[in-house]
Amino acid sequence: MEIITAVRGFKDILPGEAVKWHFVEQTARTIFSSFGFREIRLPLLEKTELFKRGIGEATDIVEKEMYTFLDKGDEYLTMRPEATAGVIRAYIEHSLFAADPVVKLFTMGPMFRRERPQKGRYRQFHQIDAEVLGSDDPQTDAELIFMLVHLLHTLGLMSLKLEINSLGCRDCRPAFRTAITEFLSGKEGELCGDCQRRLHTNPLRVFDCKVKECQQVLASAPRLLDFLCDACRDHFEEVQGTLTLYGTPFSVNSRMVRGLDYYTRTTFELTTESLGAQNAVVGGGRFDGLVKDLGGPEIAGIGFAIGMERLVSMLALADDGLDQRPLLYIAALGDGAKKKSGLICNRLRIKGIYAEIDYSGKSLKSQMKRADKLGCRYTLIVGDREMDEQIAELRDMRSSSQIKISFDKIEDYVINIAKEN
Ligand code: AMP
Repeated sequence: MEIITAVRGFKDILPGEAVKWHFVEQTARTIFSSFGFREIRLPLLEKTELFKRGIGEATDIVEKEMYTFLDKGDEYLTMRPEATAGVIRAYIEHSLFAADPVVKLFTMGPMFRRERPQKGRYRQFHQIDAEVLGSDDPQTDAELIFMLVHLLHTLGLMSLKLEINSLGCRDCRPAFRTAITEFLSGKEGELCGDCQRRLHTNPLRVFDCKVKECQQVLASAPRLLDFLCDACRDHFEEVQGTLTLYGTPFSVNSRMVRGLDYYTRTTFELTTESLGAQNAVVGGGRFDGLVKDLGGPEIAGIGFAIGMERLVSMLALADDGLDQRPLLYIAALGDGAKKKSGLICNRLRIKGIYAEIDYSGKSLKSQMKRADKLGCRYTLIVGDREMDEQIAELRDMRSSSQIKISFDKIEDYVINIAKEN
């Protein structure tokens, strides 16, 4: 019969790879907690309106990438394409701002975007998101970036490039928007079809375009940084000063506008040269107007999203899951031995010892082969003779030496070995 495969752009994470995911998630949890972040878990499905208002109607995500459907004919729902909008929705809905003036949250999980799948780009992908709400201080920006870089270094990723920019605020950005619109008018014919459209809907997005011709047109375009108001310029300078104080290297990229409308002031990206076209591993920025736009009080915020698939693909860890080697394999031969062995095995497991057993009734030779393949440190052999004598054979798979051990001593003996290993 024909097999059913996964949906295009949706990827399975197999056990050997999941080991790496755990490593990343656990490291992130540990580091986030010492910086005062608490986990929030959110629904994958939200009202479509949330993303339209939060991310912006004239963005690629909202225009063409969302998985949206009409639920029972009365409400449009969307599989979340990113996490920030949901975090802010929950922050407002549960008045989290009332508990503490500064709230630091993180969340991890799948996001959905109907993009064209390619290496490093999926339709279901995973992010680790961290958001700080309630501070517009530039030190908060630097601290968040410092934590992020520390996490990546702890994971062994030393060569990621940090780029930062300031997108200004609602007071100074309109002047830049006008300047860029004027600059591009008359050059319309040199732009790709998407950018011709962006010119009318969201001209800043032309900076995001990867098409070479569009990039060439932009070579002599006005720079966003030249349009910053005094407050935004001071803010950006202090972010840079604090990053320097913390010893976090960065470069300023005045062309980085990022794809979501809610960003204000500081934005940043971490990129790698090792992943080809999909080189952005982390994206983030400040979103000072978003809480208000979504119906909450005027509260500033900043956050980032790490792309898990891209991050994990850069980790130089072994891929075969062999870090999960059983300490003990029990080769049970015969029905009585199988029952007794199952009991021993499961009693060890509830003591936290990884023990493996085979109920197939295969020969000793084939069971020893499997023990070897699994990389077990010891094998316990329990056959008819052992059942009669109530004594099993314990084989050290490295030295191939064997000792006899009575059934009632096995548990304590293996627990002691586990402590030594
Ligand atoms: P964004 O939310 O677009 O700022 O993306 C933040 C990070 O998520 C990016 O830097 C990528 O690492 C990752 N990412 C975004 N879209 C995808 C995708 N379609 N497939 C895999 N990773 C993605």
